[in-house]
Amino acid sequence: SKDAGGGVFHSYEPQLHVAAEERRILEIALRSALQNDELHLNFQPVVDTAAGSLTGFEALLRWTHPDFGPVSPSKFIPLAEDARLIAPIGEWVLRRACAEAAHWDESIRIAVNVSSEQLHNPAFVSVVAQALGQSGLRPERLELEVTESVFLREGTGAVRVLEQILELGCRLSLDDFGTGYSSLGYLSRTRFSTIKIDRSFVQAAANGGREATAIIRAVVALADSLGMTTTAEGVETEDEHRVVGALGCGKAQGFYFGRPLPLNEARTLATNSKGG
Ligand code: C2E
Ligand code: CA
Ligand code: CA
Ligand code: CA
Repeated sequence: SKDAGGGVFHSYEPQLHVAAEERRILEIALRSALQNDELHLNFQPVVDTAAGSLTGFEALLRWTHPDFGPVSPSKFIPLAEDARLIAPIGEWVLRRACAEAAHWDESIRIAVNVSSEQLHNPAFVSVVAQALGQSGLRPERLELEVTESVFLREGTGAVRVLEQILELGCRLSLDDFGTGYSSLGYLSRTRFSTIKIDRSFVQAAANGGREATAIIRAVVALADSLGMTTTAEGVETEDEHRVVGALGCGKAQGFYFGRPLPLNEARTLATNSKGG
C-alpha cells in the first residue's frame, strides 16, 4: 500500500503480515480442535540399539484441520503454548497415551512430551496421577519428556513438580539434549532416566564430524556415570544406527526403525511379544 522506495520493508512486511495472519487463524482453529475431534496421536518406536528390540513408543501429537489439512506440531505446539492452550491439549495427550499403552505388553513403555508451561503448574501432578489411575497403567511405564528450557524459569516450582512426578513412580527423559541452554547442574538435581541426544549430533557424527562424535561419547559417559541411559534421536540410516551403537547409545529412535505410526499399527507391534 505504501509507495516505492522502502525496498527492505517492501520485501519483508508482506511476509510478516502473512505470518501474523496465519498465526491468528491457526490459533482460532486450535481453540476448537479438541472438541471437534481434530487431534490424534501417532506412536514412534524406540528400540534397544544392541538387541534391535522394541522398548517403547513416543506419543507424537497430530492435528488435521478439516480445511487446512495436517498442521505440523513444530508450528502449532508453540502456538498452543503462547495461547495457553497447551494445558488442556497436553492433558488430552497424556490421557490418550496412557489409555492406549494400557493395552500394550507390560514391557513396552510410553513416552509423552510435556511442555515447560505444563510443568510450571503445580496441578499438573494430579493430571498425571489421574491419567495413570484411570488407565491402570503402571507408573514406571510412563516416561515424561521435558526439555532443558524447563529449568530456565527459576523459583516457579517446576523442579518440585518433576520431583512429585518421580514420587509417583514415573520416569523422566531430558529431550533434545545439547540444543538448548545446556547446563549440567540440573542433571545432578533431577533424576532423569534417559538423555535424548538430538538428531543434529547423530547426523554430524555419522558424517565423520569429530566434535559431534566427541560430544556423543561424552554424553554417553556422563549418562553412564549418573545411572542414566541415552537415546539417539532421528536415526535415519543403517550407517547412523551403526555409529550411535558404536558410541554406546543404549536406545535409538528414527525413521530407520520406524516412522510415527497410527494407533492400530503401534498396538500390533506392542502386543506382539505376547505371541498368538
Ligand atoms: P521431538 O520431541 O524432538 O520429537 C521428535 C520429532 O522428530 C518428531 O517430529 C518426529 O516425527 C521426528 N523424527 C523422528 N524420527 C525422525 C528421523 O529419523 N528423521 C527426522 N528428520 N525426524 C524424525 P514431530 O512429530 O513433527 O514433532 C515435533 C515436535 O513437536 C516434537 O519434537 C515435540 O517437541 C513437539 N510435540 C509433538 N507432540 C507433542 C505433544 O504431545 N506435546 C508437546 N508438548 N509437544 C509435542
Ligand atoms: Ca520428544
Ligand atoms: Ca527430541
Ligand atoms: Ca525436538
